[in-house]
Amino acid sequence: MDLFEHQAKELFAEYGVPVPAGKIATTPEEARAIAEEFAAAGTSRVVVKAQVKTGGRGKAGGVKLADSPADAEEKARQILGMDIKGHTVHKVLVEEASAIASEFYFSFLLDRANRTFLSICSVEGGMEIEEVAATKPEAVAQVPINALTGVDRAKAREIATAGRLPAEALDGAAELIERLWAAFVDEDATLVEVNPLILTADGQVKALDGKVTLDGNAAFRQPEHEALEDAASADPLEAKAKAKDLNYVKLDGSVGIIGNGAGLVMSTLDVVAYAGERYGGQKPANFLDIGGGASAEVMANGMEIVLGDPSVKSVFINVFGGITSGDAVANGIVQAVKLLGDRGETVDRPIVVRLDGNNAEEGRRILNEAAISVIEQVETMDEAARRAAELASQGV
Ligand code: GDP
Ligand code: MN
Repeated sequence: MDLFEHQAKELFAEYGVPVPAGKIATTPEEARAIAEEFAAAGTSRVVVKAQVKTGGRGKAGGVKLADSPADAEEKARQILGMDIKGHTVHKVLVEEASAIASEFYFSFLLDRANRTFLSICSVEGGMEIEEVAATKPEAVAQVPINALTGVDRAKAREIATAGRLPAEALDGAAELIERLWAAFVDEDATLVEVNPLILTADGQVKALDGKVTLDGNAAFRQPEHEALEDAASADPLEAKAKAKDLNYVKLDGSVGIIGNGAGLVMSTLDVVAYAGERYGGQKPANFLDIGGGASAEVMANGMEIVLGDPSVKSVFINVFGGITSGDAVANGIVQAVKLLGDRGETVDRPIVVRLDGNNAEEGRRILNEAAISVIEQVETMDEAARRAAELASQGV
């Protein structure tokens, strides 16, 4: 799970990482009121920042300085509702403005390829690190972290020095990096990125931006992370699937995919994308793994989610009977169609079923006998993928 910048900064502050003071506003009037509080405390300049989970907000006009509360209101009015790379801005962070002397880059991340943690530090901050790495690789330090020994003050200083941070920023940066490491470990994060990390005109080192990714696999021991979830901007179908314990990911194609087992579903996505090239580039509309026990109810839930997506023009149910045998799956599909009918959701798009594995023959017989008009059976996975793509290309 990715956090909003303001959530990342609140987390940083809990670990003693210096961040500018700020508050969240959802209306221009609220932004003005927050700026007025800062003004009363002696800070008239604020920065108004779009809170969306994507980078490059500055370039897109989602980060604006304001000289007065009235100006903050005006800037918030411009930013709220803005679309940044497909993300609508529903809230802004109103923060005391910082006097920036220099901008640096810093991050901790999980380096899966090398099975270790990695820190990246650079004196060149503010722009995308990929760009700096491409144009000035010598200015980007990559320092592996031993998971057992971690990052103490000396290691933190070594990282800042390797990133060529100036001497006057080293003490502050080392302290900040050591604290960020504590946040990274204690919160089970897979990424903590600060871009820019700044040196202010009066010599302080601060996190001016924050990106944090929390490891969902650690949710069981991080109960307080649930509150950080952004239910409002989650895909409604993904949220619905999650509530039903289904593994569903929305994709942007037209062929709905239902399978049992993550590996089978992944390869189904591949064969559909491949077959779809012949039909005007039809692609999978989603990933949906109904898991091992394909009961009627699980199947009905899965079909309801997939058919709930209006961009789905055909559905490909690809099941390999294992512990759950083919006849049980077939009965599940038949009952699911009935269940959906009872729920008032008529199955109105073509469904291609490929059933194989344990007791597949009996399963196919059950499906044939049920003679459901929208269901078509195909024996092989490749041919079923082709047919589903063809049907999607004919769909309206
Ligand atoms: P991003 O574009 O989404 O990464 O958003 P950032 O939070 O990194 O902000 C983009 C840029 O806005 C920063 O690199 C700074 O140059 C600038 N900026 C952000 N906050 C302040 C501030 O308080 N004062 C000044 N002078 N510039 C700021
Ligand atoms: Mn940034």
